[in-house]
Amino acid sequence: MSLSPKEILNSVFHHDEFRAYQEEIIDSVLNKKHTLGILPTGLGKSLCYQIPAVMQDGLAIVVSPLVALISDQIKRLQKLNIKVAGIYGNMKQEQIDIALDNCKYGEVKFLFLAPERLSSLLIKTRIKQMNVSMIVLDEAHCISQWGHDFRPSYFNVKLLREWHPNTPVLALTATATEKVAADILQILDIGKASVFKGSYHRKQITYLIQKSENKMANLINIIQRKEAPGIIYINKRKLADVLSKELKKHEIPCEIYHAGLEYKEKEKSAKSWLNSNQHWMIATSAFGMGIDKANVRTIVHFHVPSSMEEYYQESGRAARDGNKAESIIIFNQEDVEFIKLNIEWSFPERELIKKVYNSLFNYKQIALGAGADFGFSFDLADFSKKFNLPAKQCYYAIEILEKCGYLFQTESVQNSSKIKVIASKAVLNKLTENNNIEGKVMGTLLRSYTGLLSESMPFSESTIAERCGVTRDEVINTLQRLEQKEIVEYEFMNFLPKIVFSRDRIDVNTILIPREILENRRKIKKEQIDFMIDFVENKLQCRSQLICHYFHEDIPKCLHCGNCLSAADNKNIKEFILQKLSIELSAQQITESSPYLQKDVIKALRELLEEGKISMNNALNFKRLR
Ligand SMILES: [Zn+2]
Repeated sequence: MSLSPKEILNSVFHHDEFRAYQEEIIDSVLNKKHTLGILPTGLGKSLCYQIPAVMQDGLAIVVSPLVALISDQIKRLQKLNIKVAGIYGNMKQEQIDIALDNCKYGEVKFLFLAPERLSSLLIKTRIKQMNVSMIVLDEAHCISQWGHDFRPSYFNVKLLREWHPNTPVLALTATATEKVAADILQILDIGKASVFKGSYHRKQITYLIQKSENKMANLINIIQRKEAPGIIYINKRKLADVLSKELKKHEIPCEIYHAGLEYKEKEKSAKSWLNSNQHWMIATSAFGMGIDKANVRTIVHFHVPSSMEEYYQESGRAARDGNKAESIIIFNQEDVEFIKLNIEWSFPERELIKKVYNSLFNYKQIALGAGADFGFSFDLADFSKKFNLPAKQCYYAIEILEKCGYLFQTESVQNSSKIKVIASKAVLNKLTENNNIEGKVMGTLLRSYTGLLSESMPFSESTIAERCGVTRDEVINTLQRLEQKEIVEYEFMNFLPKIVFSRDRIDVNTILIPREILENRRKIKKEQIDFMIDFVENKLQCRSQLICHYFHEDIPKCLHCGNCLSAADNKNIKEFILQKLSIELSAQQITESSPYLQKDVIKALRELLEEGKISMNNALNFKRLR
């Protein structure tokens, strides 16, 4: 007898209850209907396809945009003893072959695919022969140019529709405006799909926004008053170290996370944040996808987010346990100017994009008519210097070329450092007898990694450092010395992404950059940014209402966001406080002498501070300002 979705939920996935809309979506899919699920909480999206896939014959093809997301899902399913395969990142032909074979002959239930892989002929023939139970489009908003994260490679999903025209499609996203939702249905040609849309209103999150002349002081102040665990989002990597130092100075425990860190470091810092209820994570938007921590109490944006979708998604990493949390933006005028300027960089002129196209092939000395599937580690600084091109614009020109389908980039998780031992046994023995750092590092290396004597092996400086009880920098320095002494061959890891050309080089004058990818996107991006600037500057309307309006949903005032609070009828309290503050007083002194509730007094104090009517000194005493 077959199990019901609820029983699968309990017995296979170990969850007790369905969340909103999960059951409806699963039912719809099991009835072979095309389905669009918009689940703003971002919670439990994956169960919507995982449960029906497990229940049905055949395999589910899941298209997902990010390597990190795919590998995360694969790991989760494998832990549940479910067979999965994936084709993504910079996989070799051989590995792809094995994965595809497993899908046909193995008991594989899920095939995860990066969308750019679908254009390959080999994949086409093989997928056509498979017994496909459903086609799943994760992060479906990426298919629409009106979304915040448009990826033209998502159009390839249309191919899956051609190959398996009778297979039901399930499109899932956390954020889609009406325009985006309509686009998804139209592009996938699933006009009659059942649409399930959850509410965007998150009652448990309080949205606060502070324009600040001293962001750092403001941040420290906030963190000291707010509850951990929390995430501080930054939009520039170099800020990570600056903030981390400052927080540590104030004895606030924190971790950092961004794409420029070694894989191990990222994992380590994510782990210590996940396992602690005291830590703050300082991160770029690279952090958070696939990370599920229920009790995040505070989200801080230390800049103006570049779209409502981004802000909404990142804020939504808080309060997943249903308890109260706060999402705070701290920004200044510079931040506003920065995101305006960023649009100019993000959409370079056509001429520059063409120049970058040609230079990329010249860089690797690839002639016209060749280059398809050629991949290489890409060092942007070196490239832009060699061809005398502005680095920032180059970066975005490459993104646009990717969107046009001429190349694709993969994340660089596998480029770890490599080492090979070249000295003789005798030299090694002598070296490892020493109790100095060279001896220790070498000995530890040899014990930790077998095979170093015959081939170059990937390894981690951090692991060696930990085992030797020294710092990672000391390990790096030591290995560089050992390389000079010709004892090892040491190749320091790089964080370089890989670029892979998807097509052979063509005459630059024939390359196609559609308006949808350049001019239209520039216009859409500008609208999104203008909306965010209006949003942060708006001091009157309810924040929760503004957010929901963006996604075409009407809700009553939330009564607890920054704007609702200041609008509340607390005039009396404020007047009382201002009267009292003819002399300097602490919050406690004011509360004790007032007939009002402490929380209301604190609330009024906060607003008076924000309004600039009072100030607070280092001793935490308040003073009235003129
Ligand atoms: Zn409100």
